[in-house]
Amino acid sequence: MKSYHLCKEDYEEVKQRLSMRQVAEHYGRKVKRDGTCLCPFHNDTHPSMKIYPDDKGFYCWVCQKGGDVIKFVALLYGLKNEEACKRLIDDFSLPIHISDLTYKEKRERQKQREREKELRRFREDAYSVLKGYWLLLTEATLDCMDWHFEEALQELPVVEYRLQCLRECPEEYFADREAVRRLGEIQRRIAGWYDRP
Ligand SMILES: [Zn+2]
Repeated sequence: MKSYHLCKEDYEEVKQRLSMRQVAEHYGRKVKRDGTCLCPFHNDTHPSMKIYPDDKGFYCWVCQKGGDVIKFVALLYGLKNEEACKRLIDDFSLPIHISDLTYKEKRERQKQREREKELRRFREDAYSVLKGYWLLLTEATLDCMDWHFEEALQELPVVEYRLQCLRECPEEYFADREAVRRLGEIQRRIAGWYDRP
């Protein structure tokens, strides 16, 4: 563990950068769509932990433990808040230690944050396009008389592969101009799905 001390802004920065779901999942929780998961702080067999809708905190209605991402890690590993916060910084490779940053570094961080935001947006958009196409294709495979049947057989594995890429390495996907261009095509494909050739 690094020997530096954190300042108040560092805590805020960590909380701002990480979502509760992301942290819970990173440390092995399977978070369901409705934001519930098995609580790691009591012997839970039935998801009793709930992630707040703002995705910044958790609460277990059985053992009544709750808090933010830092508290989660502190409880999970029996750490003090400062150590838990450092652990998050390390585990997520967060470029944080604001108190020591120069003006240039702060600007660099600002740019980095904008890039991350852009990437997040790309990821969401790309996911909704691919998922939409995937649904249409899946439907088309059910009926060999469907005039999208051939296309579905051919494209379905490709789309599944792309969804996987998007999940696992969105940065590379985003940097791949060809793949991004293809997304635009898919979008038009979906728009004209029910137009007969
Ligand atoms: Zn609990």
